[in-house]
Amino acid sequence: MSAAVIDGKAFAATLRATVAEYAATFEQSAGRKAGLAVVLVGEDPASEVYVRSKGKATLECGMASFEHKLAEDTSQEALLALIDRLNADPAVDGILVQLPLPKHLDEQAVVERINPAKDVDGLTPVSTGRLALGLPGLVPCTPLGSLMLLKDRLGSLSGLDAVVIGRSILVGKPMAQLLLAESCTVTIAHSRTKDLPDVVRRADIVVAAVGRPEMVKGSWLKPGATVIDVGINRLAPVEGASKGRLVGDVDFASAAEVAGAITPVPGGVGPMTIAVLLRNTLVAAHRNAGVALAKDAL
Ligand code: NAP
Repeated sequence: MSAAVIDGKAFAATLRATVAEYAATFEQSAGRKAGLAVVLVGEDPASEVYVRSKGKATLECGMASFEHKLAEDTSQEALLALIDRLNADPAVDGILVQLPLPKHLDEQAVVERINPAKDVDGLTPVSTGRLALGLPGLVPCTPLGSLMLLKDRLGSLSGLDAVVIGRSILVGKPMAQLLLAESCTVTIAHSRTKDLPDVVRRADIVVAAVGRPEMVKGSWLKPGATVIDVGINRLAPVEGASKGRLVGDVDFASAAEVAGAITPVPGGVGPMTIAVLLRNTLVAAHRNAGVALAKDAL
């Protein structure tokens, strides 16, 4: 293996410690804690784990956590009414609705109801539009965390060729916007892209957000490329094991032979997502309370 392994877990721990410091000074200035509300509808076990760990991390940073668990058969009206209450609640700076929602609910309408000033997931049309316009706003956590790792590793990204594989609203599209704002030359690849290995081979930066286990091979990479593996896929368990291994969208073993640096799975982008959620909540809290936050503080 020749690639440096990018330690997202360590970076996320440092970010969380910084958030905790600023959360304490925010509390002194504003006379209240910054607060994050997380809404979970139904009993999806994976979502329950995410919501629990978000709540725990919020409290550990010295912020207030409000968990709203609603029954699987919650109506659209009841969910929208809860969002309205959270929008109006001055103790709530960030609102996160855990996705996916049960099938009978209109996810887009629910996300659109969130006050953009509290949109810590960065998914409302206002947040998405501000990102495209290059205006300050709240940016989706996973791509922002990925960008932080890239800038920490490479410094300026200006002029670099970046390929983002995946064009989801949650990861691929905002990732491409963030890289464009850093003056990268950005290509967005997706399931209809012709000759993907050839496209990837041009890139100084590869961000894989596909949801296909170990799809990107070392032979696809330009030597020395920086690889950010967003994918989280659980393989089928081998005989005798209760759980399968977690792998990314990149074949780590072969990619690490060619790349200059690469994020592991787990321990790469994953831990960044919650750390950036806390960061976004604190940024929103400062704006909502009219408390100044030094530029680039977080
Ligand atoms: P998604 O909504 O399913 O989007 C996947 C994207 O990959 C789509 O744009 C799709 O193209 C593209 N794609 C699928 N097959 C492809 C192929 N063979 N070649 C090229 N492109 C292909 O997934 P997502 O929400 O963006 O998530 C992507 C991965 O990141 C998943 O593994 C997810 O678990 C992980 N994830 C991790 C975190 C974290 O905290 N680390 C957060 C979010 C997501 P089309 O648009 O053409 O269908």
